[in-house]
Formats: sequence, C-alpha cells, structure tokens
Amino acid sequence: MQPSGEAHLGNYLGALKPWVELQEEYDCLFCIVDDHAITAGGDPAQMQANVLDLAVSFLAVGLDPAKAIIFVQSDVPEHTELAWLFNAVTPVGDLERMTQYKDKSLHFESIPAGILNYPILQAADILLYKGEAVPVGEDQRQHLELTRDIARKFNAAYGDTFPETEALIDKGVGRIIGLDGDAKMSKSLGNTVGILAEPDAVWERVRTAVTDPQRVRRDDPGRPEVCNVFTLHGHLTDAATRADIEVKCRAAAIGCVDCKRILSDNIATAFAPFRERAAHYRANPAEVRRVLDDGAQRARAIARETMAEVRTKMGLDWRAAIV
Ligand code: SF4
Repeated sequence: MQPSGEAHLGNYLGALKPWVELQEEYDCLFCIVDDHAITAGGDPAQMQANVLDLAVSFLAVGLDPAKAIIFVQSDVPEHTELAWLFNAVTPVGDLERMTQYKDKSLHFESIPAGILNYPILQAADILLYKGEAVPVGEDQRQHLELTRDIARKFNAAYGDTFPETEALIDKGVGRIIGLDGDAKMSKSLGNTVGILAEPDAVWERVRTAVTDPQRVRRDDPGRPEVCNVFTLHGHLTDAATRADIEVKCRAAAIGCVDCKRILSDNIATAFAPFRERAAHYRANPAEVRRVLDDGAQRARAIARETMAEVRTKMGLDWRAAIV
C-alpha cells in the first residue's frame, strides 16, 4: 500500500480488512511502498510522516508482526534492483498498454519514466519473494497479468526462477466508491473518511456523502440500490437495520441525514478499538520502528536469496569466471 498517511475507509474495506484475515492463512508480507510513492516526485518531509502514519494504521487494524512481515519498501533495496533487471525482459509496448499508465500520463506534460515503469517495480515487489498469491483489486488485475508475463519471460530467458503469481480477488467487497460519488475512494480526491478519525470528524465527512441524486426533497422516495451511503451500510450496518433503512428509504420514511448519522455512528463504533491502538502506537513510535526494522530484516533475508539466484542466472557474478 502506498504511504499517503492514515488509512481511510476504502483502504480498510478493500485491503486491510482482508489482509488481517489472510495473515491467518498465508505467510504474508505487507509492504509500505514508498518507492512507488515517489514515482512522480513528492515532498520528502511529508513522505516520512506518511510512512509512519500508515504503519500505525497497519498495526491499529490488527496486522500482526508475529504473524506476518511488515516493512517499508525502501528498506529493502533489492526491490529496485530486481525492477531494473526486469527491464531486460519487459517490452515497452506492454507498459504503454496499461490502463493506469494511459490514465495517469494524461496528468503530465512531460511524463516521468517512473509512471511508465511502475508496474515493473510492482512485479519486483511480488517476485522478489516468489509470491504465489497477491490480494489485488479488479483495477490491478492487468498489472498482475504483466507480473506473470515478466515471470514467464524471465524463466524462459534465464531458467525456471519465478512462480506465476495468482490473484486473490475478494469479490465480496467490490469497488469502494468515494463519498462524493467518484468511482474511487482516494485521499488525493478528498472523498474519504479516515479509519482513525474521531466520531465528530467521521460525521463531518459522512454528512457530505452523495446519495440518490433523484432524492431531492425529504419526502421524495429514495432508491437504495443507487445510493453509495446504502452500499457503505452493507459493510458496516447489521442486516436488520439495513433492511429497515431500505424499506423506509423507498417510502420516504427516513431522511438522508438520519440515514447518514446511523452510518457515521457505526463507523465510529466499529473503529473505536483501532483508534485506541493507534493512540498507543503514536505515543510509542519506538515500537513502530522496532516492528518495521524487524520486518525489513526478515524481508531482506528472503530478498537477498532471490537476488543471489537472479544475479547468478543473469551472469552478474563475474568472480565466478576466476577459477
Ligand atoms: Fe441513501 Fe439512506 Fe438517503 Fe436512502 S435514505 S437515499 S439509502 S442516504
């Protein structure tokens, strides 16, 4: 996950919540990808704060260093080294075909090479650990396909080295739409609600959420099936209350403000234990540092092994020529 500070509801529902479950079942590595976050530059001081805030969010939601490796990407320089070597087996045309590249490149007059090469670094993130499965959203499926291609091409050129990683797609979650109705909940779009926000701050955000656009007045009947607030209730509100909201919404027997208030209260209640744990880690940053230092060490031990194998296979070990 890219470090953009404290995690938000979309991060939680789409990634962190399933990750907490996956760490029970798999040997997981959870990485704060700061090298990805500088693809097009950025503010160095903000980056440091963002990494720490995201690490606090990881620990607050229950990612557990006793069950998984939690680390920061730039602490393991083998990520960028492997990405460079993967340049050798990745056609530029494949990178230019990536939907995210086409979208992102529209925002630049002069496109940084990092925007194009970003999926190669993603492939390195996965294959450095010979990852067999990666939890990804539908929007990342194309990048994972590229990772599988890179693994295939590398194996064909240099011998069997990398697995063809499978996608773990949680179909139950679906896309988490922004509070403003944008297709994506994202901090850069300002349409999120933080999972560590205090109840008043949660309400300030949820209050602004877009609802059924056709429900203009309080006595207009609503259509829960097109309302993002109702979708979010699906993740945070019990079935009986949801059924009651659905009936009352269609009959204009509940107003959107009251409906949002229920959602806001449920968010604040569900995340109360996270806020408590986050307060502990914020007061004890040395604990967070220990977790990340230890995670980096464990990740590097795996990464070094992979890189030794890769360097040998690619002939990047000239000393072997001296007998
Ligand atoms: Fe959406 Fe709730 Fe308003 Fe119905 S009452 S339109 S579900 S916010």
